[in-house]
Amino acid sequence: MILLGPPGAGKGTQAQRIAHRYRLPHLSTGDMFRDHIRRDTSLGRKAKPLMAHGELVPDDIVLGMVEDRIAQPDCDNGFVFDGFPRTLTQAEDLERICRQHHYGFTIVLHMVVDPGLLMRRLTGRRICKAGGHIYNVYDRPPKREGICDEDGSELIHRQDDTEGVISERLAAYERQTRPLVDYYKAQGMLSAIDAMADADAVTASIEKILDKAEAP
Ligand SMILES: [Zn+2]
Repeated sequence: MILLGPPGAGKGTQAQRIAHRYRLPHLSTGDMFRDHIRRDTSLGRKAKPLMAHGELVPDDIVLGMVEDRIAQPDCDNGFVFDGFPRTLTQAEDLERICRQHHYGFTIVLHMVVDPGLLMRRLTGRRICKAGGHIYNVYDRPPKREGICDEDGSELIHRQDDTEGVISERLAAYERQTRPLVDYYKAQGMLSAIDAMADADAVTASIEKILDKAEAP
């Protein structure tokens, strides 16, 4: 299963829930990179400087990690991908790798968002310095501005959550990843999900789709 959608659409949360419910490993390239860097593999050594500078890791490195990961025995019954594939080339390569390993992936979930609302959700985010409690100045403001309700510590606006950074990431998504929507739709593999609903409602609609897909 693949979760497709822009940054901030809630892919990570949903992938985690679905993986847990269906007892499948939750795969993200971010985790794979960190794992390779920790183990100091040759792929990790190539990826590390790129990641440190926030640059895109080239397809061959990403693919190498993915191929290595899905060959692990815990992937035998399938897996949930979050944030991959990101480009058309990666999608085609993933299909090739899956065929080689005798996986036929069945479902691509398209997390559909409203760009304006998404921007608000992301730029409004404030995180508590001490406990990591999350607020949103628009949708879930703290009682006192800049102060955590739970523990009284300072709330931070992360650099990653500023409009410039987010616009750049959304533009990169539109440019590189959006074409995958049509690609998977043409193959009849795509299911659209309203990702602006609250997280539990999103999970419920994903489960409905997956349960239907599992039925004979
Ligand atoms: Zn707090």
